Amino acid sequence: MFILLKVAAAICIFSAVSASAAHEHSAHIHGHAELTIAIEKNNVDLNLIAPAESLLGFEYKVTTPEEALKVSAMKKHLSEHKNVIHFDSGECQIKHVNINSSDMLNDDHHEHPHAEISINYQFHCPKANEISSATLKLFKHYNKLKKIYAMWLTSSQQGSIVLDDKNTKINFQ
Ligand SMILES: [Zn+2]
Repeated sequence: MFILLKVAAAICIFSAVSASAAHEHSAHIHGHAELTIAIEKNNVDLNLIAPAESLLGFEYKVTTPEEALKVSAMKKHLSEHKNVIHFDSGECQIKHVNINSSDMLNDDHHEHPHAEISINYQFHCPKANEISSATLKLFKHYNKLKKIYAMWLTSSQQGSIVLDDKNTKINFQ
């Protein structure tokens, strides 16, 4: 029970940190993505939200076959977690992948002129406590992506870092 409460408290603090950091650099800036990584017991949960413009080059509703192909190629690329992130250790295996590009299919851009792509990965890592760093792989492939505002949480620590093409490593300490 105590452990559960502790984790819940940590997640609350983490959410508050995410919300304030997101607020500081505004929710949707082209070239900027937001990443959260939570390492809890042997599970690693990753969420990344990026403007569609930064991954696809456009942000309007898909209408042509060429645009549909670009979206499916991007989804395929992002579905391979090795194209996105590499953990230095932990023996992580991917359990769940979700690439959400539904913004590109909706025609509600009158109210929401921007579109976002979100990535969720859940890993099972039998040696999660050995994970000391992770490297982001996105900048080479997506050259419109300039910065990733990363926030991370383990059972004992939390931190944040701004990544770019020359600074791609998160140290979990
Ligand atoms: Zn936009």
